[in-house]
Amino acid sequence: MLNPINYVHFYESLLERGGEKYVYGNREDSSTKFEINLSVDFYKQNKIGLKYPRNAKYIIVVTHDVDNIYPSLGLIKYYMKRNPFKAFRYLLGRIRGNKRIFLNLKDITERESIYGFHPTFFLLVSDEDVLPLYKNYYRDEAVREEIYLVSKYAELGLHTGYYSFNNLQRIIEEKKRIEELIRGKIYGVRNHYLNFIIPRTWNLLSKAGFIYDTTLGFTKGFGYRNNMCYPYIPFDYEQNKWINIFELPLTVMDRALIKANIDPDMFFDKVKKFIESEAMKYGCFITLLWHNDLLYDPRFKKYSELFWRIIEYAYRNEGVILNGLEAINTWTRNISR
Ligand SMILES: [Zn+2]
Repeated sequence: MLNPINYVHFYESLLERGGEKYVYGNREDSSTKFEINLSVDFYKQNKIGLKYPRNAKYIIVVTHDVDNIYPSLGLIKYYMKRNPFKAFRYLLGRIRGNKRIFLNLKDITERESIYGFHPTFFLLVSDEDVLPLYKNYYRDEAVREEIYLVSKYAELGLHTGYYSFNNLQRIIEEKKRIEELIRGKIYGVRNHYLNFIIPRTWNLLSKAGFIYDTTLGFTKGFGYRNNMCYPYIPFDYEQNKWINIFELPLTVMDRALIKANIDPDMFFDKVKKFIESEAMKYGCFITLLWHNDLLYDPRFKKYSELFWRIIEYAYRNEGVILNGLEAINTWTRNISR
């Protein structure tokens, strides 16, 4: 059993540093550093000897948010000038929901299995979205088939809708949609656009039955919000109690790098340096979010290559690559020893 006492010092220092101030809508907040002071304190105070699968020294967690199966608005806009006919076909295909250019979950999973891991896909199954011409893919038979197939290998989780993250009934309904589709239970969640209200959202997600959330990261840049590189149990300072859920910190998101104009080559060197100097020493979790559409989007080739370079590096250099649920299980085993 997990002993929350281990987390007390950890969380107290988090509150002192104002870590609870994260609210949704705060999109100006950015970071361009891997800061992990809090987890280093935690590591030293608790003298934990971490044991990871394959005797790895650090963990890469691979997650994909599935926002788009049909052509994205960004891609349609991109082709408007270059190839108006294609742009038009894509637009029609999005409206009709029959041009599945990003139905690539199986492809992604197969390529990843070469490195011996199975990722987490967070599925957006909400009825409405903030973007116009939203087409819900979860009712599409071809998409359902592929999701069901992939669920035999990969972990499936919920990508809570833009307007659903603050509504318990909707969260429960969306969770049920995926569980019916894959004929099994799901355990992990990430909110679309990283929408979150601390501590309310944790309480809702916990009530809906999730074991872990992995929403808290930066929408611009990269790094560890709250300077923590391990999963942690959140504390509800309003009700003065621990919340029954794990937060797996989100470290690097593809679109947040693009938004901050971070060069992929430069970033790769940065990640490598961080792994060599700190992640290996303290057994850090590095959670990656690469969207399924971005991995196949001609506009962002260098950013999809960046993803595979990080994977390749970790695979060859004492890392282990896990999905969200495996990462949480690994952590739980470590702190309950
Ligand atoms: Zn999303």
